[in-house]
Amino acid sequence: MVRPSLRSTTHKRVKVRTPGGRLVLHVSSRKKDLPICSLCGKPLRGTAFGEIVKMRKHSLSSKRPNRYYGGVICHRCLAVLIKAEVRKLPFPHSYNITL
Ligand SMILES: [Zn+2]
Repeated sequence: MVRPSLRSTTHKRVKVRTPGGRLVLHVSSRKKDLPICSLCGKPLRGTAFGEIVKMRKHSLSSKRPNRYYGGVICHRCLAVLIKAEVRKLPFPHSYNITL
């Protein structure tokens, strides 16, 4: 029987055959998948992924880019969205600015 802390289903279990012929149970933490952009589906750059236990040791800035929608949308999609939003605004001459 394994340790009580490893009996949880949050750990991944793999049966491994040793060179001596024994069948042993290897318990490892689950891995986080490669993060992808929610709009285009391409893998995100600058994001950490792997074992969740090791991910906790990373600093926040090394886990995801420090920008709006960092870790959710890729930089290409964000640039397109920002440009589209900015171009909706009226031309600056239309503002009532008195000098
Ligand atoms: Zn994208």
